[in-house]
Amino acid sequence: MDANFDIKKIRNFSIIAHIDHGKSTLADRLLEKTGTVDNRNKKDRILDTLELEQERGITIKLQTARMEFIYSGSKNFKSETPYILNLVDTPGHVDFSYEVSRSLAASEGAILLVDATQGIQAQTFTTVYKALEYNLKIIPVVNKIDMPNIDLDSIIDSMVSVFGFPRDEIIRTSGKTGEGVEELLNRVIEDIPCPANNSQNPPRALIYDSFYHEYKGVVALVKVIDGSFSMNQNYKMYAIGTELVPLEIGYLKPELIPTQRLNVGEIGYIASGLKDIKSLHVGDTVCLNNDYESKNIAPLPDYKHPKPMVYASLYPVESNDFQEFKDALEKLALNDASLIYEKQSSPALGTGFLCGFLGLLHMEVTQERLSREFDMDLITTSPSVEYRLEKQNGEVMQIHTVAEYPDPSVIKTISEPWIRLDIFTPEKYIGPIMELTQKNRGAYVNMSYIFNELFNGDRHVTLSYEVPTSEIISGYFDKLKSISQGYASMDYEFIDYRSSDIVKVNIFVNHEIVEALSFLSHSSNAEEKGKKLVGRLSELIPRQQIQIPIQAAIGQKIFARETIRAYRKDVLAKMSGGDITRKIKLLEKQKKGKKKLKEKMIGNIHIPQEVFVDALKID
Ligand code: GDP
Ligand code: MG
Repeated sequence: MDANFDIKKIRNFSIIAHIDHGKSTLADRLLEKTGTVDNRNKKDRILDTLELEQERGITIKLQTARMEFIYSGSKNFKSETPYILNLVDTPGHVDFSYEVSRSLAASEGAILLVDATQGIQAQTFTTVYKALEYNLKIIPVVNKIDMPNIDLDSIIDSMVSVFGFPRDEIIRTSGKTGEGVEELLNRVIEDIPCPANNSQNPPRALIYDSFYHEYKGVVALVKVIDGSFSMNQNYKMYAIGTELVPLEIGYLKPELIPTQRLNVGEIGYIASGLKDIKSLHVGDTVCLNNDYESKNIAPLPDYKHPKPMVYASLYPVESNDFQEFKDALEKLALNDASLIYEKQSSPALGTGFLCGFLGLLHMEVTQERLSREFDMDLITTSPSVEYRLEKQNGEVMQIHTVAEYPDPSVIKTISEPWIRLDIFTPEKYIGPIMELTQKNRGAYVNMSYIFNELFNGDRHVTLSYEVPTSEIISGYFDKLKSISQGYASMDYEFIDYRSSDIVKVNIFVNHEIVEALSFLSHSSNAEEKGKKLVGRLSELIPRQQIQIPIQAAIGQKIFARETIRAYRKDVLAKMSGGDITRKIKLLEKQKKGKKKLKEKMIGNIHIPQEVFVDALKID
């Protein structure tokens, strides 16, 4: 062990907050205050590195930074040498809740941020409960205290009454002005315990994140739980069994700083040289190959195999672009262990990929990156979940697209995934939210009042439901936001698969099935959804030279129909005089044009691409 390694001087912590409550901004101030990054070449928002993340203000990839700080408070922590503070950033969106839980499992404490202008929200609850599950010491913070017209007392009251934090332990900070940041750093040292000293145990480390490095291959971000890790050892990833011989070991600042060794309690990285990001899973345990072989060692708890929640097929608008699309997707997936994809062909749409995403945001971000960073023009089919289907002959299959849905007569049972949905809202929106959630087949679980006192002028409640995942991935969140004027927030978690009556709704444009618009739905609301979509398409698809019928059908039964009327350019009107042959030629030309247009409609690609995007946002 290194002579100057002192586990008592290590603090590992995360920052937890509802999205937008100022986590990334505050993290930047911590890095500055500790001199980890110097002011001259700092980028705005150091920890949100992805351009898209910076722009949309969401953290998708975790970042870790080791900081050094000499205690400056008044308690008995004075020392010549600095403390080592490891900040483990957590992604700020429900799509990534498993990643959040792994970051927490790698920490001994958490800074809980509550925005002074917003107060407690859904993710504040869920993350606090998660942090408590992992026995983390929580440091409560009211953030954005520089904002005008805030009622600090009432926010602090709510933090005291909801979570039971002692009033005088709540720190006031501003990530904007830096107020309170030094106090916060001192409190991290005072309140958060150092990691457990299991230096004598056989080595185990928790992988809480990973990324791909051009030269160092797949890099695992780890917390050393037991023993130590060094070069020239053979390690094993417990759950998936991949071998790992370190190419480099070190810590992050947030750039990679090699040290060749990680001691017990430390947070850092192990570069593997492996080329496939999927050879490493978040939540897995790294241990010595020998210990693994001799079954001498148990994995760390709560490992979950990565599982997408939402599926959609992506096709290039121009079928010639397939190779380019494939390259782009592969490049993107290099750094995104949770993005899965599989080649898929469709008669109407050509060759593309069925992709699995952690949630709708993950899907949106992926689409946006493909279009922005790789300039890809794509058609995306309507998002779906993974249905499990048992056929009459006992065969079991998983389906994600309309195209995979077999003839209904061979189906014995279908089941679909359900989630538990927690909604946090001011009391006055309970009625409309219940109505919305029940319409989406939600089953009421319970409701509890959170505040006895008034809070932002309203009593608040949490509403819990069990809801089929498929209902949540078609605009539920947007509707929730709009009926509550932005005040309600939500969080969710997968529960189980339940048997269900799922039908296929085919959408026909000009008598041809458009797979990209057809969808699977529960029978109870399939017709309603189909009718809405047909109505919407009739508004979205521009009028053309021919009349275009748009229909929705389940099996043979057409239950919705709209017609887009043709416009007829009066080509003859422009011509004065009577050159009849010219008139006939022109009419023929127009007819050909019609035919050409019709042919393209059969390929279905000539529906403007925006229609696919807009139609899927059915309200
Ligand atoms: P995150 O989603 O929790 O990472 O939140 P961000 O750090 O991205 O902050 C969300 C928004 O709040 C951004 O527009 C920030 O500029 C702003 N913000 C963050 N901290 C403060 C603060 O202390 N004061 C003020 N006035 N604005 C802040
Ligand atoms: Mg952020």
